[in-house]
Formats: sequence, C-alpha cells, structure tokens
Amino acid sequence: MLVKSNSYDIIVVGAGFSGLSFTRSIGKEYKVLLLDRKDSLQRPYESTGLITKGTRNLLETLFPEITDYIVNKITTLGLVSPDLTRKFYSSTVKPWIYSTSTSDLISRMSKNLTLNIETRLGSTVSSIRRTNRDLR
Ligand SMILES: Cc1cc2nc3c(=O)[nH]c(=O)nc-3n(C[C@H](O)[C@H](O)[C@H](O)COP(=O)(O)OP(=O)(O)OC[C@H]3O[C@@H](n4cnc5c(N)ncnc54)[C@H](O)[C@@H]3O)c2cc1C
Repeated sequence: MLVKSNSYDIIVVGAGFSGLSFTRSIGKEYKVLLLDRKDSLQRPYESTGLITKGTRNLLETLFPEITDYIVNKITTLGLVSPDLTRKFYSSTVKPWIYSTSTSDLISRMSKNLTLNIETRLGSTVSSIRRTNRDLR
C-alpha cells in the first residue's frame, strides 16, 4: 500500500544514519514521512565509515545486511606524532572498529524501506511546531 495522503503519524527529518535507522525501528502501522534536504541519497556522506563494535551491533539489530558493507575489520591502531619521533601501537585479538562503505550502506538502507514510509528528497525543514498529540 502506497501512502499518498498528506497526513502522517511520524515525520523523520534527515535520511542519514540516524534517520534511516530510526525509520526502520518504527512499526508498519504508522504512516511515516522521511524528509531530507539532499536531492539524492547516493552522494558520499561526511563520514569515513568507521564504526565501533557497539554501533555495529546496534545497527545489526535494525539492518542485518550491515555485514555485507563491512570492508575492513580493524584490530590494530597506530599513531605517529607529527615529527615522526613518537609512535603508539595498540592491538586487540578481536576487531573493535569496523570500516564500512558509507555511501553504499546509506544507499542500501534507503532502498529497503517498507511501504508505509514515504521518502521525499529535496525537502528542507525550516521550522517545527509542537503539538500535544500523544502517539502511544
Ligand atoms: C569528515 C567526517 C568524517 C566522519 N567520519 C566518521 C566515521 O568514520 N565514523 C562515524 O561514526 N562518524 C563519522 N563522522 C560523523 C558522521 O557524520 C556521523 O556519524 C553520521 O553521519 C551521523 O549520522 P546522522 O544521521 O546523525 O547525521 P547526518 O549523516 O549528517 O544526516 C543528517 C541528514 O539530515 C539532513 N538534514 C539536515 N537538516 C535538515 C533539514 N533542516 N531539513 C531536511 N533535511 C535535513 C541532511 O541532509 C542529512 O542527510 C564523520 C563526520 C565528518 C564530517
């Protein structure tokens, strides 16, 4: 069922990681409008794509396909001072940081939305008016 009415239960502003993750957690019984000022979600995001183990685990509960977008598992961290005289290395047995392909991940997350969610790109929200309506 496609949502065509102008009335929505929930409006999510921003189709980045937060907005897309939150949108996935909303029940299908709600009509949802997902807005973003960008004209396309395919563009590269301001993220190098590094996520911690905790973030990965959280994202996985909403988006099991995340594993397909992990391009590197990081176990070793190396820091070198600007004058190259001091170095620091730390290594763990299990990976604790994951490198993801950010634009591919965002693109996939935005394509797999359920039909109760209408996405409108190129829409900038300039103000929000509060109401007393309770969604529970
Ligand atoms: C150079 C750089 C590198 C980074 N690298 C990492 C990294 O490696 N790992 C990491 O975890 N984090 C990194 N970050 C932080 C990264 O930006 C966030 O982790 C992530 O993008 C947050 O997602 P978000 O959905 O909260 O915000 P965003 O990705 O910024 O998404 C917000 C969305 O809301 C839209 N929007 C904003 N205002 C409006 C409006 N008024 N109306 C409509 N739409 C609107 C924007 O267009 C955008 O699409 C990096 C940031 C920068 C700048």
